[in-house]
Amino acid sequence: MARIVMKFGGTSVADVAHIRNVAKHIKREIDGGNQVAVILSAMSGTTNQLINWTSDASPMHDAREYDAIVASGEQVTIGLLSVILQSMGINARSWLGWQIPIKTSAVHGAARIEEINGAEIIRRMEEESQVAVIAGFQGIGPDERLTTLGRGGSDTTAVAIAAAINADICDIYTDVNGVYTTDPRIVPNAKKLARISYEEMLEMASLGAKVLLTRSVELAMIHKVRLAVRSSFEDPETARPTKDSDFSNLKNGINNHPGTMVCDEDEIMEQELVSGITYSKDEAKITLVNISDKPGISARIFIPLSEANINVDMIVQNVSEDGKYTNMTFTVPSDDLDKARSVIEQNNQNIGYEKILASTNIVKISVIGVGMRSHAGVAARMFETLAKKGINIIAITTSEIKVSVLIDAEYIELAVRALHTAYDLDVT
Ligand code: ADP
Ligand code: ASP
Ligand code: MG
Repeated sequence: MARIVMKFGGTSVADVAHIRNVAKHIKREIDGGNQVAVILSAMSGTTNQLINWTSDASPMHDAREYDAIVASGEQVTIGLLSVILQSMGINARSWLGWQIPIKTSAVHGAARIEEINGAEIIRRMEEESQVAVIAGFQGIGPDERLTTLGRGGSDTTAVAIAAAINADICDIYTDVNGVYTTDPRIVPNAKKLARISYEEMLEMASLGAKVLLTRSVELAMIHKVRLAVRSSFEDPETARPTKDSDFSNLKNGINNHPGTMVCDEDEIMEQELVSGITYSKDEAKITLVNISDKPGISARIFIPLSEANINVDMIVQNVSEDGKYTNMTFTVPSDDLDKARSVIEQNNQNIGYEKILASTNIVKISVIGVGMRSHAGVAARMFETLAKKGINIIAITTSEIKVSVLIDAEYIELAVRALHTAYDLDVT
């Protein structure tokens, strides 16, 4: 017997027929003797629509009311799944964030989970064989009002609940059957990974692989939650119910999980040099033309940006030809572009640039792998591959296990495919 958390994303609960399919996955696990808690997203497209309605109603809206509106999508899906499960003879009960409660920080629209008491859910599982069907993405803030966790936040709810009820595994069911070497929608011959380390998954998520939300991987790492990705579109009736031996013996090379397990580095037998390639279109580029090349200029640019809570990711300063003037290019999240631009403009007296250029037509491509710690040449191969395709690199950043480059957005598919081949990741 295992205690499992099963999370289903928007495409897996897109309508009542899909929710019936989800119910069959749950029945399989219950029949297999497992204790189950379920986390659901809203139906795909619903949250976008709720956000659009809110902006239509008033572009400058109260963040508490935004949360009241956008959290409603999950209320519908948990209710529907609960009645379907009940009609199949399964004892199920829906839970909104405040009913558990899932206590969060005060930041409406981007709250962080702070505390969950899982005792009542565990009691009902053990004494009444009841399945908890929990709304993802929402909680209750210190002001006793509803909060939401930010887009894609149901993954975080799932991991946090798994930690709170001491689950053996947290399975994220989605529309692909695991974590791939790159987005399978861009590279059809991407390889499914049987296992990936927490560190690599964290980098992949934060660098654009949206199959898992970064915060959920972080929480799983901190609380040692076993996390996995698998498909809700595999046949729910022929799939095998989960057994605790599926994941209790990873170090011996045993891996019966049908999707991808996120685990410790030492539980991965054959470590590849590169385990994944990601792309992110969420950044924008700002160039300040002809700033003075003298000490203190960077501080005058980046201190006001950090005071405005704008995250700067990549920075390149050109070498000045005359020792007097240079150009500075940096990236910010594209959602913050207008704000960053106005912060810079307000500080121009202090900075003294001639011109400001901004573009969202860029993409960040990253190559990730713990193998980089012990092998040289990964970055060189990346630059060489892009050069052969005639793709210009605008900026570069590296860390212990990743190399990222900024390129023109038009080359996104060409770059990802070429790199995928260059690191021998293609399924042949
Ligand atoms: P859900 O609605 O279930 O939360 P998401 O759309 O958030 O699903 O995440 C699943 C999607 O993530 C897939 O459809 C896939 O296109 C995308 N994706 C991006 N990178 C990867 C990757 N490396 N491996 C698997 N899927 C990826
Ligand atoms: N429904 C929310 C969203 O679309 C949360 C989630 O699906 O994870 O962002
Ligand atoms: Mg998601």
